[in-house]
Amino acid sequence: MIKITTRRPASDLVERVAELSGQSIFACYQCGTCSSGCPFIEAMDLHPHMVLRHLMFGMEDVLTSKTIWVCASCFMCAERCPRDIDMARIMEALRQVNLRENVDHIKISHMTEAELEGVPQIALVAHFRKNTG
Ligand code: SF4
Ligand code: SF4
Repeated sequence: MIKITTRRPASDLVERVAELSGQSIFACYQCGTCSSGCPFIEAMDLHPHMVLRHLMFGMEDVLTSKTIWVCASCFMCAERCPRDIDMARIMEALRQVNLRENVDHIKISHMTEAELEGVPQIALVAHFRKNTG
């Protein structure tokens, strides 16, 4: 008889993300449907299904991946997932974990005058709310 054992990942990141997002990360069976329908896949360094795979293995590189900031929370993946996993919530949870470390992903001092004048104020405020600790 084959004995199946489960090994807990070295990192507790998957538990933190599961708690913050309310999603069952280990329910994912890696069908890739989320990635195949994501409209922003070309700008991502980890495809959405890979984010889940890395999380399952306790790999914290998801926190430094561009993907979590590129995700526009469009819910296309959540609509299509056969396991009812809401990837947008998982991406949001990963951003929250990141921001709780007080890491700023954008600094006003790094923006050019042209950017500051050209970007609508409401977009700037939304950007800073999303991307700063
Ligand atoms: S669509 Fe759902 S089950 Fe399939 S890889 Fe994505 S999250 Fe996992
Ligand atoms: S919610 Fe994010 S990951 Fe899902 S399809 Fe939209 S952009 Fe892609």
